[in-house]
Formats: sequence, structure tokens, C-alpha cells
Amino acid sequence: MGAKSQLVHNFSAGPGALPKKVIERVRNDFPNWNGTGMSITEISHRSKDFIECASKAENNLRSLLNVPDDYHVLFLQGGATLQFSMIPMNLGEKNSLVDYVVTGSWGNKAVKEAKKYKHVNIASDSVANNYTSINDENTWSRSKVADYIHITSNETIAGVEYNFVPETGNIPLVSDISSTILSRPLEISKFGLVYAGAQKNIGPAGLTIVIVRKDLINDIPKIPALLNYHNYIESQSMYNTPPVFSWYVAGLVFEYLLDCGGLKVIEKINKEKSKLLYDFVDNSEFYSNPVDKKCRSRMNIPFLLKDNSLNELFLAKSLSEGLANLKGHRSVGGMRASIYNATGIDAVRDLIDFMKGFENKFG
Ligand SMILES: *Cc1c(COP(=O)(O)O)cnc(C)c1O
Repeated sequence: MGAKSQLVHNFSAGPGALPKKVIERVRNDFPNWNGTGMSITEISHRSKDFIECASKAENNLRSLLNVPDDYHVLFLQGGATLQFSMIPMNLGEKNSLVDYVVTGSWGNKAVKEAKKYKHVNIASDSVANNYTSINDENTWSRSKVADYIHITSNETIAGVEYNFVPETGNIPLVSDISSTILSRPLEISKFGLVYAGAQKNIGPAGLTIVIVRKDLINDIPKIPALLNYHNYIESQSMYNTPPVFSWYVAGLVFEYLLDCGGLKVIEKINKEKSKLLYDFVDNSEFYSNPVDKKCRSRMNIPFLLKDNSLNELFLAKSLSEGLANLKGHRSVGGMRASIYNATGIDAVRDLIDFMKGFENKFG
């Protein structure tokens, strides 16, 4: 198939697309990184070269997100999924009360882990509308006292994203930002902790970013060393060997985004990209998106074909035209176009052209 031998537009939900410029830079620098005579995967993480690379990445991430000084930025492993456990293990008192707002399957997974360490109050759960919307903030039944309140900023599978930051007063707000990180500016000071697996909108899998307010972290010696935030804080995220390659590539992506003009510029492009596709889908008789308009994701856009039996044909034809990874998650069905930062407006235009042609022929 032609698609195998040429570059494609990649609509994967994760691992997601990387900017072409970053891929080229990695290819050029790989054999002899930073003049070391070695590749980045062969050097010591304790070497001066890597420590510089690592702290540059942190500084660039801090400037992209405007991270205040009273927050730690940590580079961890284990994916966002390990954070489902580390957060309840590390934040607040043992077995204390915490609130969770569930807007889809990732939120449900976070709850399942939290229940092992905390008393979980489900402040809101939009299962009744099949996770196609976010319940109004004033309907949430929040605890008066809770060690934190957890939300999922974007449910990657159903394509449901917060377009507001909940007001939680002095209860720390914790957010899974795996699929929105760096897609728009974020007011970090409104959060106690945010976390993201890198492989959606940053870089290669194996790296997890955690940004946490300093006063929320205590040393808890009873939990395993590698699950204790304190140990990473004390060691600049190098308690053991960190994911050197992923960290380096993430650093290149941060640099690239700064060169693009930062997150305000990126947000503008992402708004435009998603609007193009939603407008097309909404004006079509053949394609549809079930998500409440006020919480539609800018990053992950699921859409259904009027006739399900055409799904396989749609996927085969789109791939042969260089539009890869459009299959929807099995729990939702249909298609999903993930349009992270590295999937450009040209990709969205080509997708829409393809969708028009497909509808004309088979619709
Ligand atoms: C992908 C994803 C996860 C799981 O991430 P891993 O890094 O694979 O553990 C969790 N939350 C959200 C919102 C995601 O999109």
C-alpha cells in the first residue's frame, strides 16, 4: 500500500504525531549528540551534557506554561496511569476524603486507583449522558473538606474537554492534562497538581510530567521510594535512571513550541483546526459528533458515519490516501481524528477533502 512508503498525516490518539522539524533534528543529532561522539541513549544521565539538556528542557517548559516559582516540575515514568496511584498516595492524609469528577473512562480509571488509598466522593459523574458532556459546576456535590478534587481536563476517548477551570477555593485542584498539555495556555496557579503522559502532545512515551505546588508535598517514607514525589524533588527527577531519550526529545519539542511563538499562538492554530473539522461535521448529513458543543475537545474529535457498515471502507480508503490512524476507540466506535499540535491545519484540510469525496461516492 502506498501509505507505507510515504509520509502520512498522523491522526493517532497516542502515541501521537511529533513535529517534523523535531524528527529531523533527532535524526541529524542522533549518531553524535552534542559533540559527545555518542548518541543520547548511550551517555550518562549524570553527565554535564545531559544535566544541561535536562534543565534546559525544564526551563523551557516553565516558560511555555509560565510555571510559578512555588511549583515543582517533575520528569517521571510510569505514564499518566501511575499518577492515578501516586496522587492519592502522596497528597493529603492517609485514608482521607477526596473528590473526583468523572467525565469519561480515564476519570473512572483514576477513581478505581484512588479508592485503594482514599475515601472517594464522586462529586459528579456524567455517565447519564453517556459521557458526551460535563455537568454544570454548580450541580457538583463537593465535600466541604477534601484533600483535593480531581478532574480530567480532556477525555481523550470521547473527546470531552473542559473549557473552564473549576473554582475550588482552597481545596487543591488536580487535573489529568495528558491530552491537552501545551495545546493552550494554562493558569498553573489555579491548580495544586497537573500531570500528563508525554506521548499525546509532547514526545515519545516513557516520560510523565508532573507540576505540583511545593507546599502539597511531604516526605512519606512508608511508600515505595519510586512512588514518593519527595525523592524526585530531592534528586532533580534523577532518583534512578530517567528516560533520557524521551526527556531529550520533549526538550526539543518545548524549544520548537517556543520558536513557534508560544502557547497563545499554538492555541489559535488549534482553535482554527478544530473549528474547521467540527463545522464540516455539523453541516454534514453523513457525519456526526455527539458531544455537547460547549465541551468539545480541540484535540480529539470523534465522528460517526451515518452507515456503520462503511467504517472499514472509510479506514482503508483514508489510509491509502495518507490519512493514518482514524479508527475510533472501540468503546465509542466510528472514527476519531486526534489533532495534536504536530498535526497541522493542512492535515485537517486534507481530511475534510477526503471526507467530502467519501460521502459523495458512498453516502
Ligand atoms: C492516554 C491517557 C492516559 C493514560 O496514559 P498512560 O501514559 O498510557 O498511562 C490517562 N489519561 C488521559 C486523559 C489520557 O489521554
